[in-house]
Amino acid sequence: MKIGVAAILQESNTFSPVRTRYADFSPVFGNEAYLRHAGKLTEMGGFINVLENAAVPIAPICAAWAITANRLVRADFRRLGKEFEAQLRQAAPDALLLAMHGAQTAEGEDDVEGHLLTRARQVMGPDAPIVVTLDLHANVTERMVALANAIVGYHTYPHIDMFETGQKAAGMLLRMLAGELRPAMAMRKLPLIVPAENAQTYRGPMHELVQDAEALEARGEAEAISIFPVQPWLDIAEMGCAVVSVTNGRPAVARRQADSFAKRLWRTRRQYDITLTPVPEAIHAALSIAGPTVLAESSDSTGSGSPGDSTGVLKHLVEAPLTGPAAIFLVDPAAVAKAITAGIGATVTMKVGGAFDKQNSRPVKVTGVVKLISDGRWTARARGYNTGITTCMGRAVVLEVGLILILLAEKPAMTVDPELFRSHGIDPTYCQIVVVKSPNGFRAEYEPIAKQIFLVDTPGVSTANLQQLPFNRIARPIYPLDPDTRF
Ligand SMILES: [Zn+2]
Repeated sequence: MKIGVAAILQESNTFSPVRTRYADFSPVFGNEAYLRHAGKLTEMGGFINVLENAAVPIAPICAAWAITANRLVRADFRRLGKEFEAQLRQAAPDALLLAMHGAQTAEGEDDVEGHLLTRARQVMGPDAPIVVTLDLHANVTERMVALANAIVGYHTYPHIDMFETGQKAAGMLLRMLAGELRPAMAMRKLPLIVPAENAQTYRGPMHELVQDAEALEARGEAEAISIFPVQPWLDIAEMGCAVVSVTNGRPAVARRQADSFAKRLWRTRRQYDITLTPVPEAIHAALSIAGPTVLAESSDSTGSGSPGDSTGVLKHLVEAPLTGPAAIFLVDPAAVAKAITAGIGATVTMKVGGAFDKQNSRPVKVTGVVKLISDGRWTARARGYNTGITTCMGRAVVLEVGLILILLAEKPAMTVDPELFRSHGIDPTYCQIVVVKSPNGFRAEYEPIAKQIFLVDTPGVSTANLQQLPFNRIARPIYPLDPDTRF
């Protein structure tokens, strides 16, 4: 007997000006997939950990992760799906552990996870156990629930429990194979989307829900209760928050649990409303205290599908009377190329930012010194995305514009881990202002070092002001777009 392990993860933002390509996933197959994740704090690392401890043979299928952007282009989606299926067919595992995001789309496909599960079922047959892990921001569909034996979501946001989620899924699969667990799964979907900014799981309304879900799991009344406050930047018909409960052979209990948590999530919906701070106000507050002030520009969150090219904060920073360093990450391939051509130590004047999302941002003219040039490869250290794994943001440079240190890259990177800056010679601890492009994920690492935090108000395709987004296909009514929605 052998168990297949696979990871294909991307969160989509269907408002993003940037499409996803095959290469963005850096896909690897077979033993290379094993080597990428073995010993790492990822879902697949958790799968491998549990299976190796149980001395169960592992069939590594694939490992693919892409940063959030708009739909995967059609031909590349076909290629990725085909390769996944071919590897699965060749490995012929008896059961499968599959890590996915849950909110991935492609051209012509609103539910990539459902599609991949369809392919897995075709290869493995109706009786082979398949256990799936999903990001807390998954948009769970009926098709996923119908095709997977069990679905297990993260319990943390900021996400720091990928490894434990993988371990939990693998443990459930082993118990299924031993005949100890017969999963009965139920999903309750809600006509609700919530902004990400107030959905922490360590305080507030989401914290209470997750704690109670964990209490039921600890008492054995549920195997896995997953609350999915879906990421809001997804304009597809089957869109909305969901609760999924898995019990051991008790379908009615699973339904009751899913219903009960869904009702509680609904009742707390107004508590996720968020007030954003104007950028000048946040900068002014930063100037009056010592120590780092973090400005979270969630409208340009690279982890939420924004291109990372917003100048909404930068245009105010260049005007501000800073007395200490400020750090900001910015995607602009043309500016990177110019800086590299100029070389280390050169002074360059050029426009930066506003390269992709031209509707929401304009380039800002800056004069600065090229301090550092890199290949853009860096290794995440913090608990969270890709911990211990090296990813690449294309080539990168640090441009010093007065006291502002702009980390310019050819491609977006996750900004939740201060290691992004540290790997390029910038220590956020010693900055007066640090700009992160994240709604909430940054808090795990930045709350301990920040003296104050502001969620700032700039326009962008991952804005917390959901009414500003051009939803067309989403099923109506839905809260908060339709404030009178009933559930
Ligand atoms: Zn997420």
